[in-house]
Amino acid sequence: MKKKFKAESKKLLDMMINSIYTNKEIFLRELISNASDAIDKIYYRSLTDSSIKLDKKNLNIRISVDKDLRTLSISDNGCGMNEKELNDYLGVIAQSDSYSFKQENSEQTDVNLIGQFGVGFYSAFMVSNSISVLSRPYGSDKAYLWKSNGCDGYTIEESSKDGYGTIITLYLKEDDDDFKYSEFLEEYKIRSIIKKYSDYINYPIIMKVNNRVLKEGTDDEYIDSTQDETLNSMIPIWKKKKSEITEEEYNNFYSDKFFDYEKPLKVIHSSVEGQCSYNSLLFIPSHAPYDFYTKEYEKGLQLYSNGVLIMDKCSELLPDYFSFVRGIVDTQDLSLNISRETLQQDRNIKVIAKSIENKIKNELSNMLKNDFEEYKKFFKIFGVQIKFGIYNNYGMDKDKLQDLVLFYSSNKEDYITLNDYVLSMDKDQKDIYYASGENVSKVSSLPQVELVKSKGYDILYLTDYVDEFVIQVLMEYEGKHFMNVCSNELDLGSDDEKKKVEEKNVLYKDIFEYMKSSLDDQVSDIKFTSRLKSHPICLTSKGGISAEMEKVINAMPNDEKVKADLVLEINENHDIALKLKELYDNDKELLSKYAKILYSQARLIEGLSIDNPTEISNLVCEIISK
Ligand code: ADP
Repeated sequence: MKKKFKAESKKLLDMMINSIYTNKEIFLRELISNASDAIDKIYYRSLTDSSIKLDKKNLNIRISVDKDLRTLSISDNGCGMNEKELNDYLGVIAQSDSYSFKQENSEQTDVNLIGQFGVGFYSAFMVSNSISVLSRPYGSDKAYLWKSNGCDGYTIEESSKDGYGTIITLYLKEDDDDFKYSEFLEEYKIRSIIKKYSDYINYPIIMKVNNRVLKEGTDDEYIDSTQDETLNSMIPIWKKKKSEITEEEYNNFYSDKFFDYEKPLKVIHSSVEGQCSYNSLLFIPSHAPYDFYTKEYEKGLQLYSNGVLIMDKCSELLPDYFSFVRGIVDTQDLSLNISRETLQQDRNIKVIAKSIENKIKNELSNMLKNDFEEYKKFFKIFGVQIKFGIYNNYGMDKDKLQDLVLFYSSNKEDYITLNDYVLSMDKDQKDIYYASGENVSKVSSLPQVELVKSKGYDILYLTDYVDEFVIQVLMEYEGKHFMNVCSNELDLGSDDEKKKVEEKNVLYKDIFEYMKSSLDDQVSDIKFTSRLKSHPICLTSKGGISAEMEKVINAMPNDEKVKADLVLEINENHDIALKLKELYDNDKELLSKYAKILYSQARLIEGLSIDNPTEISNLVCEIISK
């Protein structure tokens, strides 16, 4: 009886069969990985189950072709599948993560989905008209044959098979104008695909190859013979010499292992001999995984002991601030049965983790020095993680990380490091200036920024919500303190200027007191300032919490709300100053309306919200319609 594929599998199959995906050849990689997994399974079972007797030297994967029948077969002596497993595993993929992800992100293209997740067995339908799977589980004498043309379901019937394991036979599609499927019957093609994707597979991948050899006793007569040849080197890529690995091999290994459809931004391959020896192959991805900023994301490196995988995500090997790094570590200096609990105590793991951390840090520093454009790309994606690293643990790691952060510089109009900033500081400049806001253009139009810029000073624009917290934890860099240009403490004026402003403030004392009370004391002070050039007003903050921090903290989902201690500052040279005096003398009621409008405007400039927009809008309309 013909069974139908589950609905979801059907959709995926259609997608696969009609896929324009150019890398059709990956089907072989997928089938070989499955075969290798199946051998792993029976191998691991045999370690604890003495009734399983394996001929360990003969665990292998075989490839064979029949050009007349246009078939390509992949066989393994792995665990095999019984009838139910054939049904469950090859009849449905509904639960697979890749499919549910696709549904949530329907704008994702098919191509990305295939490339990103690899859809295993089903990819074989990209190249086949029909597929048969003959499988016999270890320990059973029954074999079953699964057959499908991919379109309208599949059949399973009892069959027979010598020995346990699985044979998958693909009936290749006819060649057409777009694609020559018969290439997959050619030895050279199979050889190159296996070299490219499956070279490190742990078991021999064997194919019968034709050889012409000189007939013994002659010097010009040849005979054709066939013999088995192992096509893969079985050396894990991380154990090979760097010089023997091409960029393409690294990229393929990465995408295969970590299911990423984009090639990595950086590859860090090292072999360390010493107190604790290990090989590591690390990758910095070129984009954040879709779950990176969720709590589902698990950091960690794959941990191998002498080529055998013992842990998939060993989190002890990576500090949180480098959690974006993917990769593997292989060491001989660990016992095979190490558990998560003992791992944390293991001295060797600590030594390796430290060394890996240094490697990543050095690589990033080098990228920063030698390939700044690339580093900016990196920082855009993962910079926040580094900033969290500075901020977390009360700044314990700040010294390690402070030279890896970038901020936007008003002078350079580009990203710079703190070191760059300090190096270009004027002799008379005491502090490192910064201003924060939602984005570069908003920060650069802050009134307080104008004067500092006009004096030629560079200002770091902090546009990430963690930035100001990072600055607070850093406190200083190379002995220079950080100064928010919107802070009340910024003091750039000359003594003369200051004196003049002080005097004027005294003259206006009553006016400002009156305005302050009209604002129900929402500001702690109103005063003239010399920090404004052309702009009429601005808000500054006193103490540790800036207006920007108030915004960020209050946006967090907790009950603790904070308030910045604000000061409304007014440009003494602006016409508004005269107007205020005139109103105080003649129309106090109007002055109190002005105060409200000015304060609301200053809040808006800072990106803060106002409590009473309707009232303010009505006031503005009232005044402009006079
Ligand atoms: P994945 O390998 O990602 O789980 P596949 O669609 O490639 O997805 O395979 C589905 C399942 O079918 C596998 O998880 C495995 O249990 C089973 N399977 C596939 N190929 C083989 C094989 N050669 N031997 C034994 N089981 C297999």
